[in-house]
Amino acid sequence: MNELITRSAVELAELLAAGEVSSVEVTQAHLDRIAAVDGAVHAFLQVDAEGALRTAADVDARRAAGEALAPLAGIPIAVKDVLATKGIPTTCGSKILEGWVPPYDATVVKRLKEAGLPILGKTNMDEFAMGSSTEHSAYGPTRNPWDLERIPGGSGGGSAAAVAGYLAPLAIGTDTGGSIRQPSAVTGTIGVKPTYGGVSRYGLIALASSLDQAGPVTRTVLDAALLHETIAGHDPCDSTSIDAPVPPVLEAVRNADLSGLRVGVVSELRGEGYQPGIEARFDDALKLLTSAGAEIVEVSCAHFVYGLATYYLILPSEASSNLAKFDAMRYGLRVLPDGVSDPTAEQVMAATREAGFGPEVKRRIILGTYALSSGYWDAYYGSAQKVRTLIRRDFDAAYEKVDVLVSPTAPTTAFPIGAKVDDPLAMYLNDIATIPASLAGMPGLSLPSGLADEDGLPAGIQVLAPAMADDRLYRVAAALESMLLEQWGGPLLSQAPELEVAR
Ligand code: GLN
Repeated sequence: MNELITRSAVELAELLAAGEVSSVEVTQAHLDRIAAVDGAVHAFLQVDAEGALRTAADVDARRAAGEALAPLAGIPIAVKDVLATKGIPTTCGSKILEGWVPPYDATVVKRLKEAGLPILGKTNMDEFAMGSSTEHSAYGPTRNPWDLERIPGGSGGGSAAAVAGYLAPLAIGTDTGGSIRQPSAVTGTIGVKPTYGGVSRYGLIALASSLDQAGPVTRTVLDAALLHETIAGHDPCDSTSIDAPVPPVLEAVRNADLSGLRVGVVSELRGEGYQPGIEARFDDALKLLTSAGAEIVEVSCAHFVYGLATYYLILPSEASSNLAKFDAMRYGLRVLPDGVSDPTAEQVMAATREAGFGPEVKRRIILGTYALSSGYWDAYYGSAQKVRTLIRRDFDAAYEKVDVLVSPTAPTTAFPIGAKVDDPLAMYLNDIATIPASLAGMPGLSLPSGLADEDGLPAGIQVLAPAMADDRLYRVAAALESMLLEQWGGPLLSQAPELEVAR
C-alpha cells in the first residue's frame, strides 16, 4: 500500500507545500488504490481519473508559479452522487437518472473546484438518499472496509467507505436524517452535518428540502474543519442559505480546551436498543471528557421518542413532492409502456417511474402522497410539523443548561449485508439518535469512540450543538480525538484489516 494514501489531508497539504510530493502523485496514488480495491468495496459509481489528474496538474503548475493556494488545494476528494457535477454522470443511486449528465455544478462542487481539490469521482448511495446501509442503491451495495460482508451505513456509505478504506482522504456526504453521521460511526470515520443552511443546497438533488444538508467525511477532526470552511457560507442560489459568517470551526479545533464546558447526556438516546459495546465506548468517552475538565449533566428531551415517527411523515411528504419531477420528460430514463401503440404522457410517466424507482423510493412516495392528501394532511403532516416544533423546543431548553449534547451516533455497529434490507422499520431505527438534530436544523458530528467488545467493530459518539454553534462540535471532538488517539496509540482505522488488493 502506497504510504501516501494513509496520510490525513493536512499532512498531505504540508507535503505539497514543502514540495515533497506533487498533487499528481497524491491523486494517482488514490486512483491506484481505487483500481486495486474498489472492485471489492464498490465505494464509487463513477471515477473521473482524467478530470482529477487534470486538476492536480493545474494545481501543481500554479504552486510552481508561486500562486497563493487554498489550504486543501491539490488534495483529492470523493463526492456523493447526490450532488450535481458538470460533465460527470450523476445518478443519485437511481436507475431513473441513469445517463444524466448535469449541465452545471452544485455550489459545494463549485467551491471544491475553486479551492483546487481534484474530484476523484462520485460515491455510491442509497437511491435518492433513502436508507441506512447503501443496499438500496440501484447499482449494488457498498461494502464496509472493516468487514466486506457488512454494510458501511447509509445513505452515504460510498463516501464513508472511500475514506475508511483509503480510497480518498476526504469526501462529501449529505445528511437528511443521519446519512453522514451514521455511516461515519460504522466505518470509524469523522462525519459532520453542519447547521441547516450552513452549506448551500444548490445542486444537491433534493430528498427532503427542509432537512438536507451536505458536509465533510474525513479521518481527522482537523481535516473536517478545513473541508467545512471550504464548502460553507452564504450562497444566493439557495434561498435557505444562511447569510452570516461561517462559525469558526478551524479555530475551535486549534483551541480545543474543555475546561468548564457543560456536556449534556440525552437520557432518551441510550439504553434499550443500544448495543452494549456501543454504550460501553460511550461511557468511556464521557470519562475522558470529565478528565479534561468538562462537566457531564444528564438531560431529558421528552419528545425525542417521537422523532422517528415525525421524520417518517415529514420526509416522505417532502420526498413525494420533490420526486414528482422525475417524469420521463426532463431527465434520464424514459420507458414506453408494453403493448400500447400510442401511449399518453401519463402512461409513459407511469411506466418510467415503475421501472426507474426502487421499492424503498416507491414506499416513501406512497407514504408521503397519503400523508399530504386532502382530508389527511392535518392529521399526519400537520401533526408531524407540530411535534417537530416540540423537539426543537426540547433542544432549546437543553441548551439553556448545557453547551453541547452527546449520545451514541448509531444504536449498533455495522450489521451484515442483507440483515435488515427486507425490514424497513429495523432499517429506520438506525437513525434513532441522529434524527432529532436533523428535525431541529441543528449541527451534529460523529467521531469514533472505539471498537465494540462483542464484535470488534467501530462505535461512534455524536456531539450536537445549537444552530450556528458548529464550532462547539469541533472543540469537543478535537479534544476527545486527541485523548482517544493517545489511548489507542494511533488512529482507530490502523486497526482495520488490510483490504485485499486486486492484481
Ligand atoms: N436513513 C435515513 C433515511 O433513510 C436518513 C437518510 C439521509 O440522511 N439521507 O431517511
